[in-house]
Order: sequence, then C-alpha cells, then structure tokens
Amino acid sequence: MHEFSIVSSLLDLVEADVRKHEAKAATRIVVRIGEMSGVVAELLTEAFHVCKRGTLAEQAELVVEKQEVLISCGCGYKGPIKDRRFICPVCGTADVEATAGEEMILQQLEMEVE
Ligand SMILES: [Zn+2]
Repeated sequence: MHEFSIVSSLLDLVEADVRKHEAKAATRIVVRIGEMSGVVAELLTEAFHVCKRGTLAEQAELVVEKQEVLISCGCGYKGPIKDRRFICPVCGTADVEATAGEEMILQQLEMEVE
C-alpha cells in the first residue's frame, strides 16, 4: 500500500527531527495532505498506527489536515479550482500550474523535551 511507504518516510523525518532537537519523543504530528496527492487520510492514519511501534513517535498523536488545490494561471488567476476540475475557472485553460495540493507536508511537530 502506497500509504505505508509515505508513513515510513514521515517517521524517518520525525525521528530525525526529534533527535536533532535532543527531545525524548514526538507527541503530536500534524500533516497536510493535498487533495491531488492521492493520499487517503484514513489509510494514512491506519498505516501510522502500525508503523509507529518502536519509533520515537510511538506515543504521538497524528493529525491529518486537508490542503485544497491551488493553481496559478497565465491569465493572472491564482486560487482554488472549481468542481475538482484541473482548469482555470476564469479563462478555462488546462495549462495551469499547481501551487499547492499536490503533495503531503509535515506541517507541525511537537515533542517532549526532558
Ligand atoms: Zn486563466
């Protein structure tokens, strides 16, 4: 499953950050999933609960937020798309660039420090 490899790299990132700050463990992890990233929040949470065992994020709470798709168009339009169609809502071209919503990002990480 796609989500397992995502969670595994997320946990690597979290553990590296926890070590960098010389903290004991991660307590809260907030991620934002782009609507076009193809990541399913429920599957991600499920994979997290399986993969977190034995890691520095074992006790952490995972919060999943959704990031809507934002585009930038040659006509000057910048903003969300309409009806989940990947075209400019102003001029109708499909030649637009996504500026958000294509990936998953680690938004916030809280950790326990001794
Ligand atoms: Zn446009």
